[in-house]
Amino acid sequence: MSPSDLEKALGERFPGCMKGRTMYVIPFSMGPIGSPLSKIGIQLTDSPYVVASMRIMTRMGADVLQSLGASADFIRCLHSVGCPLPLSKPLVNNWPCNPEKTLVSHIPERNEIVSFGSGYGGNSLLGKKCFALRLGSILAKREGWLAEHMLILGITNPQGVKRYVAAAFPSACGKTNLAMLTPTLPGYKTECVGDDIAWMRFDEQGVLRAINPEFGFFGVAPGTSNQTNPSAMATIAKNTIFTNVAKTADGGVFWEGLEKETPAGVPITSWLGQENWTKESGKPAAHPNSRFCTPASQCPVIDPLWEDPKGVPISAIIFGGRRPEGVPLIYESFNWEHGVMVGASLRSEATAAAEHKGKVIMHDPFAMRPFFGYNFGHYLAHWLSFQKKANLQLPKIFHVNWFRKDAQSGEFLWPGFGENCRVLDWVPRRCDGQDVAQVRVLSYCKRAFLNHSNFIFFLNRNRPSV
Ligand code: GDP
Ligand code: MN
Repeated sequence: MSPSDLEKALGERFPGCMKGRTMYVIPFSMGPIGSPLSKIGIQLTDSPYVVASMRIMTRMGADVLQSLGASADFIRCLHSVGCPLPLSKPLVNNWPCNPEKTLVSHIPERNEIVSFGSGYGGNSLLGKKCFALRLGSILAKREGWLAEHMLILGITNPQGVKRYVAAAFPSACGKTNLAMLTPTLPGYKTECVGDDIAWMRFDEQGVLRAINPEFGFFGVAPGTSNQTNPSAMATIAKNTIFTNVAKTADGGVFWEGLEKETPAGVPITSWLGQENWTKESGKPAAHPNSRFCTPASQCPVIDPLWEDPKGVPISAIIFGGRRPEGVPLIYESFNWEHGVMVGASLRSEATAAAEHKGKVIMHDPFAMRPFFGYNFGHYLAHWLSFQKKANLQLPKIFHVNWFRKDAQSGEFLWPGFGENCRVLDWVPRRCDGQDVAQVRVLSYCKRAFLNHSNFIFFLNRNRPSV
């Protein structure tokens, strides 16, 4: 939208929009307060839900204001549910919002985020996708670092050697699960630094250092259980906000996947308020995108260095998506440039939008498609620029796929979850230079060519080595 259209649209929406509500002022830090990798924001909002959630997802309060001092170096965040009082029409599900007029905008020239009409996490907890990724990717380009849609994980092998990796998967492709994985192989330990966003910068020694800018986890609830993610289950046992989940009559929560954890016969109220919900209704008890919002500090496998202001050293970067066919469990790129191509050509199966039939494999470069703050060509140039800088210890780049399916049965070929430590074991070995890989250039190139011919041509023109 042109800047003048935006000014007009905001001018139509904001005057009087908080009437009758309380306006809250939230000073918050993305990243540990005072870390050279951290950034400060101040959000205005008329939603107590946002205040309570931001209290979990960010470091907020007086300490932040103190650290900011007289500086004006902060991101200005403005949010309204767009629903002044008295209401002009009744609320649906007690959820104030204004879907007809929803507008989420980022104004990099003014370091500003302005969001109207939505209470949804990504649109209203402005520290997360809006700041840490969209505006963050712009700040990162300006200042020479990386703001990415990546989990951060520490892996200790049976010999006691620890390495950290960062992994970018599109939404609903397993970041939170991998970040908290419980290894099935004896002797391995994995610890979580972050489950969604990584801010990374090369330090003076040329080591890529990563922090998790967030303070909590805003995870998808359905599918979370003691079988799939016991660490998440332990994390959400207290001090947690649940959104759009079902409730049990004994005061608990319920969603698809929690059948074993829920006492038989206890009545369930669905997320839409339907009492005595049963599976036979054919409708899910919880919204498929229902969420938990929970303090990272409560995670039993939180990494001891997760709040280290220096960040943790990253040895490898992993890309991945849902690829039912043709993409192996794991492969390694030949070098940084090739790794950038692997990230750029990331694709994943998405639930079909209305105009498509069935499930479709969509492009989601770097798992950042919804979150790029600027031109993707410039983003690629930024990533490629690190190859040319002297003395950087560039991480190795891999691609994984937990979601390959058997053509006959349609079942996943790989058990996933805790068993993914078998794949993670291979990554540090390759970083150590162990000879445990086979080169498969031709089949890979053929497939890449068929999938991404335009992109290959584009890169080849300037870089014959790729
Ligand atoms: P995020 O949105 O990227 O954080 O993804 P989540 O970790 O919340 O997982 C999204 C969905 O993928 C959930 O339904 C998980 O149960 C499922 N999932 C995660 N990891 C695996 C895996 O290794 N194998 C399989 N088959 N499913 C997985
Ligand atoms: Mn997640």
